[in-house]
Amino acid sequence: MDGGRVMIPAVQTPYSPFGYRGRLAPSPTGWLHLGHAGTFLRAWQRARVGGGQLILRNEDLDPARCHSEFVTGFLEDLGWLGLDWDEGPDIGGPYGPYSQSQRSSLYREAFERLRSGGFLYPCRCSRKDILDALHAPHEGTDEPVYPGTCRPERVAPDYRGSRPEVAWRFHVKDGQRVRFVDGGCGPQEFVAGVEFGDFVVWRSEGVPSYQLACVVDDVAMRITEVVRGRDLLSSTARQLLLYGALGEVAPAFFHCRLVTDEKGVRLAKRQDALSLRTLRERGRNPADIRRELDAIPAP
Ligand code: GLU
Repeated sequence: MDGGRVMIPAVQTPYSPFGYRGRLAPSPTGWLHLGHAGTFLRAWQRARVGGGQLILRNEDLDPARCHSEFVTGFLEDLGWLGLDWDEGPDIGGPYGPYSQSQRSSLYREAFERLRSGGFLYPCRCSRKDILDALHAPHEGTDEPVYPGTCRPERVAPDYRGSRPEVAWRFHVKDGQRVRFVDGGCGPQEFVAGVEFGDFVVWRSEGVPSYQLACVVDDVAMRITEVVRGRDLLSSTARQLLLYGALGEVAPAFFHCRLVTDEKGVRLAKRQDALSLRTLRERGRNPADIRRELDAIPAP
């Protein structure tokens, strides 16, 4: 990779001349819980307050973890909560298809652009290899900082002859600071090589990573503001590097506070007791749930 080529892209304001376009992006890997509801409610409010548009995107990239019953589940649960959307897998729209499993050609094209641009290198490490090579435990990070086992001195623009089952990583410039101003959390700074490392763009199973698919879709669907949980702030830093490498303008970002249980522990999908489905079955009123979620201070 030519060291000077990764540029931090311009960040849009949420209200572009084309109007606000936000999105809800659930992954159908389980039932939606109150934590999702808090984030989606905020995204819905930010879109609706200024008469903007909201897109529902089904993030069903991972065939091993995604199930169609959860797609039906989030459509029903979001509707029950009182949220609506203007484009989505159930109603179509001009930027479809709205399920990531049907958008592989777009991801493949972006992947080829990154690969031929010299931003990527192949990696044969398993997750276990990476964890074994790390000195410090990295619990709590979605993707451990890559120790660099397969990292080449220089990234060649094309690695012909690589076996198809390798993963492909984005070569970050160690020490590079990625800065952005978040609409919810204010100024942010992440240091490449410290808070995140060479991240996977294409997985060895032959599917794009969340980071790549998300950027490709947010560009293609003309999203002007991404509203999501604070746990994804460091993903945003990685995604900004992808926007730069692909020569795209990034949307604005608004990361919201995560809903926690009474012990302050973040809700996870496996906590079924707080799934929207269970709350609905227990006869809870969605308007009350919305009011309670609204009482959580912004962001
Ligand atoms: N599908 C992702 C999730 O459920 C959404 C991430 C995003 O909003 O970018 O965590």
